[in-house]
Amino acid sequence: MDRRAFIILTLAGAADPAPLPPPVGPAPETLSSGDTQVSAPQPIGDPRFDRWVADFMVRALSEDIPADVLAHELSGLTPDPRILALDSHQPEFSKPVGDYVKGVISDARVATGQRKLAELTWLPQVETRYGVAAEVLIAVWAVETAFGATQGGFDAIRSLATLAAAGRRQEWAEGQIIAVMRIIASHEATRAQLKGSWTGALGQTQFEPSEYLATAVDFDGDGRRDVWGSTEDALASAAHLLVKGGWRRGERWQREMILPAGFDYGLTEGPTQPLPAWTALGARTADGMAWSDLDAAAPGMMLCPAGAGGPAFLALPNHFALRQYNNSMAYALGVGLLADRIAGRAPLVTPWPAETPLSLADRNAAQAALARLGYDPGGVDGMVGAKTRSALRQWQKARGLPADGYLSPRVAQRLVAEAGVGTAPAPVAPN
Ligand code: CA
Repeated sequence: MDRRAFIILTLAGAADPAPLPPPVGPAPETLSSGDTQVSAPQPIGDPRFDRWVADFMVRALSEDIPADVLAHELSGLTPDPRILALDSHQPEFSKPVGDYVKGVISDARVATGQRKLAELTWLPQVETRYGVAAEVLIAVWAVETAFGATQGGFDAIRSLATLAAAGRRQEWAEGQIIAVMRIIASHEATRAQLKGSWTGALGQTQFEPSEYLATAVDFDGDGRRDVWGSTEDALASAAHLLVKGGWRRGERWQREMILPAGFDYGLTEGPTQPLPAWTALGARTADGMAWSDLDAAAPGMMLCPAGAGGPAFLALPNHFALRQYNNSMAYALGVGLLADRIAGRAPLVTPWPAETPLSLADRNAAQAALARLGYDPGGVDGMVGAKTRSALRQWQKARGLPADGYLSPRVAQRLVAEAGVGTAPAPVAPN
């Protein structure tokens, strides 16, 4: 799944369309910019969509999109019903981090990644220029589009227009359509090439159109930034995006750790401090391999994404650079661990525990219980993010429990019982 879909699916809200906004003005019959005057696109007979097109044209012209490009690309445009269906789909069960990571790292994917790492003889040049490890770029490429194979066949303008007209992340979607128009106006790519995921992510490393404009590079030197057909351009552009996200040359991204009995799990997702501060607390490196001086001096955050019973990681700054690419702990861990395997590093020492996914109702009930008990979960929305985990840690600490911030079914049950709110989750075996 492309990274935008990952974020947007996670954030997907109600399926009902937003109320119809008032029109900015009457639909124009002609469009003009500079000396160009062209006929405006004909209405298609869908009141919401026609009104959106009329309003959007005013905005696009004010942002200096040429009238002829605008009229040509919007002419005959219709909403794509598949996009709204995809946007409305909210999975009933959230995927535990361990399940996501295990899904990212298959033996076949590792083998293909290793073959690509050996075959792509220009990769060391990308690594030299940007300082991003080649195995990380291969892992991003694998996760985003299965090594370029699944770039998506949705027309970017139609997908984004469908979202915008329905009032779904309208500002963002309109900004992306304007970026697509700029790409077309500059002749860097044609409309036919501008196909991608249903959220408009483009090319082998799934760039938002605005990211393409700001960040894509021509690495193979043919004068075009071709993130669709040129793997050199796509992976160098991904490296450039990571550098913009704070990537630090020569450093790793995360290392698996073993934590001692009695470790204060309230420190997870907490302070960032270098390796010696963690080893002073009894943490040790799971694989026993030495750390570089750079890595040992870098600020690291301890992560236990499956709670005290699962693997622990010291997340270094480059882990957070990967989150710039996709703001998700699961994504950054998955890409980083896949990169480690592609580079021939050993699998995890501590396996992911079997995790029971919690239903949306259970997650909501747990958040409502935290709020009732005076621990702010950052809203009752079923999204167990950093704020909910922090509230949970405070509650666990106050009850003398390991403060790992991990919402297991058993913890959810206890929260609901204590607060006396919502529906208690079905009884589960102790874990
Ligand atoms: Ca090129």
